[in-house]
Amino acid sequence: MSNVIDALVAALGPQVRTGPDIPSRNHADASGLQPTAPQALILPQTTEDVSTALRICHEHRQPVVTQGGLTGLAGGAHPQAGEIALSLERMNGIEEIDAASATLTALAGTPLAVVQQAADEASFLCGIDLGARGTCTIGGNLATNAGGNQVVRYGMARRNTLGLEVVLADGTVVRSLNKMLKNNAGYDWTQLFIGSEGTLGVITRAVISLHSKPQGLQTALCAVSSFGDALVVLRRFQQIHPGRLLVFEAMWREFMTVATRICGLTPVFETEHDVTLLIEADMGADPAGTEAFSLLLSEFYEQDLIKDALVAQSRADRNRFWSYRETPYEYGRFLPEEIRFDVSVPLNRMTEAVAHLRQEMPKRWPDAVYVVFGHVADSNIHINVAHRDMSDDIKKGIQGLVYDLVSRLGGSISAEHGIGRIKRPYLSLSRTESELALMTKMKQILDPAGILNPGRIL
Ligand SMILES: Cc1cc2nc3c(=O)[nH]c(=O)nc-3n(C[C@H](O)[C@H](O)[C@H](O)COP(=O)(O)OP(=O)(O)OC[C@H]3O[C@@H](n4cnc5c(N)ncnc54)[C@H](O)[C@@H]3O)c2cc1C
Repeated sequence: MSNVIDALVAALGPQVRTGPDIPSRNHADASGLQPTAPQALILPQTTEDVSTALRICHEHRQPVVTQGGLTGLAGGAHPQAGEIALSLERMNGIEEIDAASATLTALAGTPLAVVQQAADEASFLCGIDLGARGTCTIGGNLATNAGGNQVVRYGMARRNTLGLEVVLADGTVVRSLNKMLKNNAGYDWTQLFIGSEGTLGVITRAVISLHSKPQGLQTALCAVSSFGDALVVLRRFQQIHPGRLLVFEAMWREFMTVATRICGLTPVFETEHDVTLLIEADMGADPAGTEAFSLLLSEFYEQDLIKDALVAQSRADRNRFWSYRETPYEYGRFLPEEIRFDVSVPLNRMTEAVAHLRQEMPKRWPDAVYVVFGHVADSNIHINVAHRDMSDDIKKGIQGLVYDLVSRLGGSISAEHGIGRIKRPYLSLSRTESELALMTKMKQILDPAGILNPGRIL
């Protein structure tokens, strides 16, 4: 056993596991990279344990990879040979719900679904939500600045976080369990750690701001004949019912073709349309709100902005509407190997982006199946491409096409999943040299020995 592992075992005892005692789930995250066993797994129970572990690793210049729920798609929590994994899974629990301040304090390893449930039981809503909610942790959500379905209303993880406790690379504990919306006492250092993907420190606790629960949820599927019309629908909805929109998802024609012809769902409308929208809004407790939702969609229909629409009349309808949007979780059963992109494109360039993909994809990879969909109100689209021969050359070609396109249109190579290991070679397409130099400086100051998540982001 190496010196560092001896030192860790001496300080932390059975919280340190090696060899076959490391569960295989800690060998990989959800990014699809080849599983790799870490040199050891540390399972701290307290902030002090995390501090002890990092102090020892820092002294030994030992690389550490921090693991939350391992649902990350960018390879950030995926171990590399020789790294020690530090899993937050035992630091799990809600510590406080402060109804007066509308805040929830939780340990970083708490699954997001547990945070959501606790908020719900206290008659609040947690504004962070995403498909991996049952497994991902609140610490991982903050480390990746996650944001999924309701970002248009509640913002990403950053906007929902008021306070943090973080352990720095050398074991120093920094704490600001702030509960106030206004606190301008110097730099807000907490924001620096949100979205830093475990490269600057380990998040151990967080104070999350809570929202009031929707009172009158309305859900609709709408067909439009162009993305331009979808944008008019979005902006008019926001002007007429400010603050009510919760979800505005777009699924382009190719996506609905895969959902119906390959995944086997029933077509939503009799005719195929270029874009199908999934819209949700909180129209309030007054029944007039429900009527106003349907009325506005009828007006859009009369103005020829939407070609067809279905409004959910029950929870079963709502689940059925969402099942189209959730088909990508099932692609593994129906499609060959995929590459998944999560990119942002300025909304005024979105039509151009999709047109370029439609022109280039069939020309260069006639056998590929590709779909475009996403949280478009946030400028975020996902592009999934499946190919039965996903050789390295094809993969690089497709990555080059998508990332060059996004860069040319002034977009971002990562809208929500982060850079991790997988997108690191492309970071300069979305960040200038001076931005990269500033990031490198911050990393050097906070983690001079470079032990935290090396090779991720930078
Ligand atoms: C089905 C599915 C749907 C998804 N949908 C979305 C979506 O809509 N929006 C979205 O943003 N993401 C989405 N994701 C990606 C993923 O769920 C998020 O990135 C999530 O926030 C990761 O949380 P985790 O606890 O699983 O983190 P992990 O995968 O364990 O880690 C992710 C990164 O955060 C770091 N990290 C983890 N915990 C900590 C900590 N306590 N302190 C410091 N660093 C830490 C890791 O080192 C790694 O770099 C989805 C993933 C799946 C599988």
